[in-house]
Amino acid sequence: MNQSHSDVIIKTDDGIGEYEADALITMTKGVGLAVMVADCLPVLLSSSTAVAAVHAGRIGMSNQIVIKTVQKMMALGCRDIVAVVGPSICADCYEVSEEMYSEIIAQIPASATTPQRHALDLRSGVSSQLESIGVSVSHVRVCTRESGNHFSFRRGGEMARQAGVISL
Ligand SMILES: [Zn+2]
Repeated sequence: MNQSHSDVIIKTDDGIGEYEADALITMTKGVGLAVMVADCLPVLLSSSTAVAAVHAGRIGMSNQIVIKTVQKMMALGCRDIVAVVGPSICADCYEVSEEMYSEIIAQIPASATTPQRHALDLRSGVSSQLESIGVSVSHVRVCTRESGNHFSFRRGGEMARQAGVISL
């Protein structure tokens, strides 16, 4: 995917090519979908009939991309969707401006931490969105900024990303 923090979701049958999107869905067995991240949340959705890879950072969370992807999967007939959130930035490492903090927590209260630190908890925010539509979530709980084994935009250093990959 050529990701741009949009809420564009594309369903692909063969997975071949480049997609201007932040979520991909496939119902084809053996087709691998990838989301690339370096602090944002790689959210992988699975069910018995379709899978999806979703790029969900602060803007994606605000755009409700995970909710929209689940709704699209449900429209395709999926009834047993579960989610896994891969390595991503933790709440302790994601301080933002006070203004941005207030704006986001007003929209997604679960992403709040403390007014003193104004750091956003993206994992809790995205979890609350998924749980609001009946999707259970598990987390890898590795912080990309703190881990020496992962790329992190905030930490800096080598500018590369990890991939979250899923197939049916
Ligand atoms: Zn951290």
